[in-house]
Amino acid sequence: MSNDSPARNRGVMMITGGSRGIGAATARLAAERGWTVAIIYRDRLHDAQALVAAITAEGGRAQAIAADVADESEILRAFAEADRMGPLTALVNNAGVSGGASRVEAVTASQIDQVFAVNVRAAMLCAREAVRRMSTRHGGKGGAIVNVGSAASQLGSAGVWVHYAATKGAIDTMTIGLAKEVAAEGIRVNCVRPGIIDTEIHAFRPPGQLEQMAKGVPMARIGTPDEVAQSILWLADGELSPYVTASLIDARGGF
Ligand code: NAP
Repeated sequence: MSNDSPARNRGVMMITGGSRGIGAATARLAAERGWTVAIIYRDRLHDAQALVAAITAEGGRAQAIAADVADESEILRAFAEADRMGPLTALVNNAGVSGGASRVEAVTASQIDQVFAVNVRAAMLCAREAVRRMSTRHGGKGGAIVNVGSAASQLGSAGVWVHYAATKGAIDTMTIGLAKEVAAEGIRVNCVRPGIIDTEIHAFRPPGQLEQMAKGVPMARIGTPDEVAQSILWLADGELSPYVTASLIDARGGF
């Protein structure tokens, strides 16, 4: 954050899965733009702490909160902790897992349960908590919810993770339905659908596979977490996208 950047306080942005990857990039950019960032993570204490330290060193405000979003009671506790940081003005539903690569014929019930619990159930429960705080119907002042979907919702991810792609289809639908439900209550709800982004979610792939996949992207490269974060922040910011709701924005290099 530069010395002349405004010390605006835009309230609290909660980012689930904020410890690394797309969530961490979003946290850094949100802090630069004046949000107090509640960084929700599950396991990576050191990553989350290092991110908070980096944001604080730049003059930003952030706190790391450990919570497994697959567990409703942990979501409620995380929101209660974030409430102590200030009024919630934005939620980024970013935490996600792949469920592991598998053809459908080999997928297990526990793989399906895990990927739906984190990618769909948690996103809906976090959205519920955010609406209870931000909706004018509940005495709130409005805000924004940005769901992180995936190009997989349209492509289907055959042979890799159809179970994961199905969760992202649910995110698309949830975005549209919730956006319409709360549109007159001061809350905009949108979705960013990344393509192939260089994060640890691809750690299972053999070396060189991502580079090979990049050849199928019209922009001829994979994306970065920072590039996705720019789209998330555009949607979260009511000054930049005030009339945008129920939108699914693709950040996938034309893929
Ligand atoms: P990532 O690098 O693997 O990071 C995942 C994040 O989610 C981590 O912060 C992790 O916390 C957190 N998380 C996972 N399970 C959690 C749980 N049960 N409770 C709380 N936090 C949990 O993933 P990413 O690539 O940045 O993905 C972020 C989002 O983008 C996901 O929704 C993913 O589906 C979506 N996306 C990614 C790509 C891509 O190519 N990378 C493409 C399309 C969509 P810990 O660090 O504590 O484990």
